[in-house]
Amino acid sequence: MLTTPELYAYFRQCSGICTDTRKIKEDCLFVALKGSNFNANYFAQQALDKGAKYAVIDEADFNTSERFLLVRDSLKALQDLANFHRNTLPIPFIGITGTNGKTTTKELVNAVLSTKFTTKATQGNLNNHIGVPLTLLEITEKDEIAVIEMGANHVGDIQELCAIAEPNFGLITNIGQAHLEGFGSFEGVLRAKSELYDHLLKRGGTAFINAHNPILHNMGKRFERSGQAKVIYYGTPESFYYAEILSASPYIIYKNESGKTIETQLLGAYNFDNILTALCVGKYFGVEMQAAHQAVANYIPTNNRSQVIKGDRNTLILDAYNANPSSMKAALENFAQMPAQNKVVILGDMFELGSFSEDKHKEIIDLVADMNFPKAFFCGKEFHKVGISLAKNFPQLYFFENKDDLQKYLQENQLKNSYLLVKGSRGMGLESLLESIK
Ligand code: ATP
Ligand code: MG
Repeated sequence: MLTTPELYAYFRQCSGICTDTRKIKEDCLFVALKGSNFNANYFAQQALDKGAKYAVIDEADFNTSERFLLVRDSLKALQDLANFHRNTLPIPFIGITGTNGKTTTKELVNAVLSTKFTTKATQGNLNNHIGVPLTLLEITEKDEIAVIEMGANHVGDIQELCAIAEPNFGLITNIGQAHLEGFGSFEGVLRAKSELYDHLLKRGGTAFINAHNPILHNMGKRFERSGQAKVIYYGTPESFYYAEILSASPYIIYKNESGKTIETQLLGAYNFDNILTALCVGKYFGVEMQAAHQAVANYIPTNNRSQVIKGDRNTLILDAYNANPSSMKAALENFAQMPAQNKVVILGDMFELGSFSEDKHKEIIDLVADMNFPKAFFCGKEFHKVGISLAKNFPQLYFFENKDDLQKYLQENQLKNSYLLVKGSRGMGLESLLESIK
């Protein structure tokens, strides 16, 4: 069995790391991982045939040539390798976690920092126990700052990711309700996210804290009292960085610290927190602020994350990338205060809420009912189950058990001249309604 330093010596001879035989790059190091439905030890030879230089395997039966590197557990080896590599790089590592807005914040922080530095950031959403090590192993000696997204579904996940990435800077975007099934409760979410601060505390790191958010602010104060930690606050006039939002209808426009108006391509007041975070981090690292604002203004979110689509019949805000109770609430509140006529919402179920699911879906229905939109469509088993009995009291609320039924209804009863908010969990795939509603 190879030790981590031995394995690292092999890694240094390779062009990079790879765990997918469909994406083999010449001379890479292939790591054979196992999942519930696959065992990549079976594909290790194929990886070598396709050009990998070595293949890390964890089953001795496959160990038939010196290009196979046998370890006890491939996943653990990958994580240890990543941590070893990380510790050869004496640069700032910024860890980003939180319930909502991690990827957006990571991309904004990266956009701002890359105006001054060579940076490396998590690709897409590779934020778990495999994605984080893969991200770390992409960082090279040329990089001056690393920006690492860290996701969590359970208490302990962030602690584990911190042990691998050892961020010396960190920030929590916000703490809300998501993955309640895995975390057990909101307190579980709180505990899980604070694992990042616990890590920073241990290694004397620095936290960027949104002082405008009461939960984070309290955590920051507690963190500061511990003595060894450094805290940089933003989001309130007296803090290290502050800018003022002017409007979000639909795109955010804000006034920067010199009083200049900046127009962004980001929707929803909630995204302003993500912007402030990036500007605060940029200022801290000495980025020229004019360049930082330009980077924010140029940033366009990808992947169905809050996009405005102007169709022939309707204009819609498509936010079909994901949904949980807190992001749903933020999106609805933002939508409700937009100065548009004929507002209609189309909402899909929120997944992974376990025993909280019924209550959380009911809360969203109640909120929508209070907001008095002329029409609101709900689809998915959970919304349907909770809502169907309410429908007779609220004729403007429509409930469909699945997306196909809703689609059929919307094809037969076309919406016109409306302003639509479309949001639901990734698994609902609400973007497929697009053709029927634009
Ligand atoms: P994931 O858990 O999938 O990695 P994430 O935390 O990376 O998600 P993003 O992909 O940046 O989050 O954004 C997903 C959605 O969350 C957006 O489309 C938006 O609806 C919502 N969102 C983004 N930022 C915030 C915020 N600060 N507060 C509330 N909701 C937000
Ligand atoms: Mg993400």
